[in-house]
Amino acid sequence: MSYVFTPAPIVSIPITGTDQRFPAHRVYCVGRNYEEHAKEMGFTGREPPFFFLKPADSLVIVNQGETGTLPYPSLTQNFHHEIELVVAIGKGGKNIQAKDTHAHIFGYAVGLDMTRRDLQGEMKKQGRPWCIGKAFDHSAPIGPITPASDLQKIEQANIELIVDGVIRQTSHIGKLIWNIGEIVEHLSAAWELQPGDLIYSGTPEGVAAVDRGNVLVGKVSGLSDLTLIVK
Ligand code: MN
Repeated sequence: MSYVFTPAPIVSIPITGTDQRFPAHRVYCVGRNYEEHAKEMGFTGREPPFFFLKPADSLVIVNQGETGTLPYPSLTQNFHHEIELVVAIGKGGKNIQAKDTHAHIFGYAVGLDMTRRDLQGEMKKQGRPWCIGKAFDHSAPIGPITPASDLQKIEQANIELIVDGVIRQTSHIGKLIWNIGEIVEHLSAAWELQPGDLIYSGTPEGVAAVDRGNVLVGKVSGLSDLTLIVK
């Protein structure tokens, strides 16, 4: 058997403390999952979780201690950062109960749900899909995955994004409207989760635009930093 062209390579993410890598399957994202961010986007902050996807090949993988490159995307005048805790699924399943979620989680990473806010806003206004605003090339930067077994309590971690030395977003994982167990329960009721799935769990308040030359440093306590320069 042969292919008519070379298949795309498997996208994979480094794991702290090992040479083994985490092969990515799907990238799910949770919308409006911190109350103050929901409010800044004009909503009440009290609605059921909802989801969108990004292609796995939109991941921008940044190794520990390195500065990744984030290309400024086409078609936008308002390229926004959204710092997020990413949940890496190691064991799939459907209809997973919140209390059983720990058995399905491989680890956690720091991610950015980069957004062409102007295009997303236009699609919202017209009641059209968000893909052009959310699921574009290079829209999902991610740092190394830390195995869950190496972490104490991720629910007690701080989350922060610094742009050119200035804190833009700062919050706490405990402020998630829908916690990690509840996210997995809702998500796995709608899709059968697979090993390699990544879940961007939502961003706190403070989303704003970046421009070429800006250096972004994303932090979640206990995880490797995610550092990128916009080019
Ligand atoms: Mn987001």
